Amino acid sequence: MKVAIVGAGPAGAAAAIHLVRAGARVVLVDKATFPRDKCCGDGLTTSALRRLEDLGLDPSTLPSWHVVDDVVVRSVSGRTVRFPLPRGRGTYAAIVRRTELDAALVALARESGAEVREGCAITAVERGSTGVRIATAEGDVVDADYVIGADGVWSTVRKLTGAADEAGYLGEWHAFRQYRKASTDDSRDLWVMFEEDLRPGYAWSFPLADDIVNVGLGILRKPGEPTRDLGRRFREVLDRPHVAAVLGSSVEEAAAKAWPIPARVEKTALDALDGRVLFVGDAARATDPMTGEGIGQALETGELAAHAIMGGGDVTASYRAAVARGLAVDNRWAGWLSRNGLAHRKGIRGAIRIAGSTAWTRRMFARWLFEDEPRAILATPRRWHRHFLNRDGAFLDSQAELARRTSNPAGPS
Ligand SMILES: Cc1cc2nc3c(=O)[nH]c(=O)nc-3n(C[C@H](O)[C@H](O)[C@H](O)COP(=O)(O)OP(=O)(O)OC[C@H]3O[C@@H](n4cnc5c(N)ncnc54)[C@H](O)[C@@H]3O)c2cc1C
Repeated sequence: MKVAIVGAGPAGAAAAIHLVRAGARVVLVDKATFPRDKCCGDGLTTSALRRLEDLGLDPSTLPSWHVVDDVVVRSVSGRTVRFPLPRGRGTYAAIVRRTELDAALVALARESGAEVREGCAITAVERGSTGVRIATAEGDVVDADYVIGADGVWSTVRKLTGAADEAGYLGEWHAFRQYRKASTDDSRDLWVMFEEDLRPGYAWSFPLADDIVNVGLGILRKPGEPTRDLGRRFREVLDRPHVAAVLGSSVEEAAAKAWPIPARVEKTALDALDGRVLFVGDAARATDPMTGEGIGQALETGELAAHAIMGGGDVTASYRAAVARGLAVDNRWAGWLSRNGLAHRKGIRGAIRIAGSTAWTRRMFARWLFEDEPRAILATPRRWHRHFLNRDGAFLDSQAELARRTSNPAGPS
């Protein structure tokens, strides 16, 4: 079995690692050369962290890595509530720069046995008599049994295979992010700030190592509505007193960047060319429609596509069914919550009041927000399990091992 993967972000790299480990030959192609930046909040949910652990990648060694213990949410009314994540049970949320995370994933894919070709942009994807052929701008040609389109929101593979979205599709959300140096105590927390004029979107400040914060905002894109003034709105949000209080006299570390967020996996074609091409990650429009988190979903769809291909039988049907079971129901639910709850001032205030009402609801809300369990877990009893709402975070074993070695450096006598 030979698989060509276009795009070496988290979705493509995860697919590559799972495929080579299952015995496939893999060519992983990206137009960028790594390390490359991806406009992102850099936030890793529990689900993303567990998937990285399954792949064998420990991001805690990356220079910008920062573990999140609490989430501080500010309501439109100005009320702030601190939501604690479990302590001493592994990692439930963390922030790490995408330049570092994605380069580490690509390195792992290469070490695992994938052939990685960087600086190669795809220009053609065609159905052959037995499989699919891709061609790059540099004149390379790769023949494969399957192609995985992991090439992000603007997916060239989607356009080249006739699976393009309707004309003018620009994603469900538009988001803006900037790295800043900020040294207040508050800037060491992870902040989610609901603003009257961003509803159901929000502004964020996510802490990284070395007093750097990833600050940004995301707004729901209404079809046909321009987002040209987002830069001005971003600067204006930064100047608001409650945001300035969190960041202090912060200094720009790098220019701000904007990028769309596609969040409609349940309404999107997941395959093309008679099922020989599967789409994953942002190319499958798989981000969470409530928060815009998509790294965990990229890793998950990459893995599901790899399993569908290696499982044999009807690959398209297995992949579609796996996405429906694993993500589509959650995205439908999260989209509903976003449109019917967080789009309204009363909805935001009510949600934060209920979530913050007791120590138990605060703990549970923090875990739910960071995808310790899938979004629609309460509505899908078939996914309940023995450790429901009581699972450890990621990397518990490696942290326990590190603690053991630190307390007893000489090892057992
Ligand atoms: C501002 C912002 C903030 C966000 N914050 C978060 C967050 O905090 N947490 C979270 O989980 N998610 C967040 N997301 C979403 C997250 O960034 C994406 O969902 C995630 O990057 C999707 O991964 P991917 O592998 O599908 O695509 P990408 O990471 O976009 O990778 C696609 C790859 O394809 C390559 N490529 C593109 N075209 C071609 C071509 N023609 N030929 C070859 N290669 C090609 C690109 O170079 C790229 O490397 C955010 C998004 C935005 C815009």
